[in-house]
Amino acid sequence: MNELLSKTPQEMASLVFPCSCGKTHSIDINDVRIGTHILTDIVDSLQVFQSGTVLFIADCNTYTAAGKQVETLLSKTFQLKKVIFPNSHLHPDEQALQQLRAAMNPEITAILAVGSGTLNDLARYLSYETKIPYIIVGTAPSMDGYASMVSPLITKGVKVTYNAVYPYCIIADIEIMKEAPMVMIHAGLGDIVGKYSALADWKLANILHDEYYCEATAELVEKAVHQCVASASGIMTRKPEAIQSIIEGLILSGMCIGMTGSSRPASGEEHLLSHTWEMLGLIRGQETHLHGNQVGIGTEIILHIYQYLLSVDIHKIYADGKFKLFTREKWEENITKLFGDIGLQIIEKKAPYINFTPGKREAAAQHIVEKWEQIKKDVFQAMPSPSTYRDMMDGAGSHLGPLDLKLDRESFRLSLLTGKEIRQRFGVMQMLEDLGILEEVADMITDIYYSQL
Ligand SMILES: [Zn+2]
Ligand SMILES: [Zn+2]
Repeated sequence: MNELLSKTPQEMASLVFPCSCGKTHSIDINDVRIGTHILTDIVDSLQVFQSGTVLFIADCNTYTAAGKQVETLLSKTFQLKKVIFPNSHLHPDEQALQQLRAAMNPEITAILAVGSGTLNDLARYLSYETKIPYIIVGTAPSMDGYASMVSPLITKGVKVTYNAVYPYCIIADIEIMKEAPMVMIHAGLGDIVGKYSALADWKLANILHDEYYCEATAELVEKAVHQCVASASGIMTRKPEAIQSIIEGLILSGMCIGMTGSSRPASGEEHLLSHTWEMLGLIRGQETHLHGNQVGIGTEIILHIYQYLLSVDIHKIYADGKFKLFTREKWEENITKLFGDIGLQIIEKKAPYINFTPGKREAAAQHIVEKWEQIKKDVFQAMPSPSTYRDMMDGAGSHLGPLDLKLDRESFRLSLLTGKEIRQRFGVMQMLEDLGILEEVADMITDIYYSQL
């Protein structure tokens, strides 16, 4: 029996426990508060910092959404130093970080951020740099970064993920969260349903490459996904239960990253696709969708792949031997065609992890064939069909699909072929390449969407 399944994220704060996976998991977040009308809890949560000054960070939108209320609650008993960013399209970059560094002084004993993705990332990074604990008052259930311990920051135009710290405390008031822009709530749903494909990749890596896997953590994430999917139809009317399921799922999946010391439970190929599209946006100077919305798009694509794999004849694929046709030249060409100069860095980092020799490629394909029945049972059959997924997202009012990425057909196709190269981890796309069918599957997916045009 997995005891974790009965715990809420609030009850999981500060938990330390030995697990059947062999690790002792610990969650070093002091305090998690989720509920309706709980913003006043902030006074209690910050009590230990009362002797010093609290650095109060918000932007113009989050200040209106919750910041002003927080300020009123704290100003009687706390010394506040405020940094309110005037721009609503704040980026987690050097410039914003510099502004926060400049506001720091020796009296500051806590950093309090009121916001979601960007402000949370900035506060976390500042906390990591200064060793001053940070508290986050969430304003939107839009991403799973509240409880995670990594901060993605944009350095010289490239998004880099830095190891940072857990927050000291997370406060998520459903009254505030449910008033967030609908696109941000849909982003949170997208980030959660992306766990379907993240968990599938994790299991695949475990079956095929004996990678570390924690059953208890996987079950916990699965439960959070099911809870969100079950209440997704309540999103359109901003039902508190639906919003609470999303924020609980997001906080929980962030915790699972810390518990396992890996982003495996929360991020797989759907995230690599989302990062790829985001990088393309940066390279081409084009606006992209929010992280979670893109993760949701990536998930639909990955579910199409799993559905296809359920129907293939693996012995015929092996007998066709297309895995022998793979060449380094073609591999490099696809990457540079899509990413331009940045492609060269990607190639250099990834090349040592690619099987270029025919013998190794044959062995990898054979190994997949041997494990095929187990993969089918434990991975493919556990996935919802793409049409079930589409209906659920439509029911939640989220209609974004691959065509909304506004990529030309070839860029989209190349993103499916090369998205996996931006990290060194195994997933379904690598499995397709090991079988020699990545290109034909990418063509098939591209046709599904682009033939409608
Ligand atoms: Zn475990
Ligand atoms: Zn994510």
